[in-house]
Amino acid sequence: MKYAIISDLHSNIEALEAVKISIAKERVDAVVCLGDIVGYGANPSECVSMLKSMEPEVVLLGNHDDATVGRTDINYFNINARRAIIWTGGHIGDEEVKYLEGLPLVGRIDGAVLVHSSLVDPSGWDYVLTARAASRCFDFMEESICFIGHSHSPVVFGRESYTVPDGEHVMVLEDGKHIVNVGSVGQPRDGDPRSRYLIYDSTGRTVSYRFVEYDVETAREKIIQAGLPHALGDRLLFGH
Ligand code: ZN
Repeated sequence: MKYAIISDLHSNIEALEAVKISIAKERVDAVVCLGDIVGYGANPSECVSMLKSMEPEVVLLGNHDDATVGRTDINYFNINARRAIIWTGGHIGDEEVKYLEGLPLVGRIDGAVLVHSSLVDPSGWDYVLTARAASRCFDFMEESICFIGHSHSPVVFGRESYTVPDGEHVMVLEDGKHIVNVGSVGQPRDGDPRSRYLIYDSTGRTVSYRFVEYDVETAREKIIQAGLPHALGDRLLFGH
């Protein structure tokens, strides 16, 4: 099975549209989304609709989705994220709220487990940023591969390895457990403004990242026009 795995769309419809076009060219068997559909950006409802139009096989709950529907405490977030969550709550329809409320924390596809943040405590929204944090998660994995989002930074953790992708080449996940952060569609944070997603081929146990250019300037402008914090627009220009 060939999957396109996306995460952290963050109400950025310009980015999601570009990624949708890119995925259409990949001829995948299924699309999977690891959560944070909304938050930060100016088009929450449109992102929910576009995601649905992609007919994803699995869609998970992210911390911003959970806070938007009033569950995760907004004090968990920094001030700009908090302002965006409150704004999103006032600009999203009942149907979209119902959709977000129904999303699960954990999912499974062929050969892999899926979670937005960490398998150790999926609703605690911990970050897996270090080899030590990754090694704790390995103990919670029955499958040999775990796909995650949340940090917005692409990385592949093995038991003894740490690989940051620098291109779209195919990486074979050798035997042993791996945790793969697919990066962010709508708010990349690793110094490159392009959207990221990932192609996973379960037959060959391979992953390859995709880097997609989109209309960053329009996404930024909409954030500012919406009255959201300017910093949330500006950071898109630089991918941080
Ligand atoms: Zn996120």
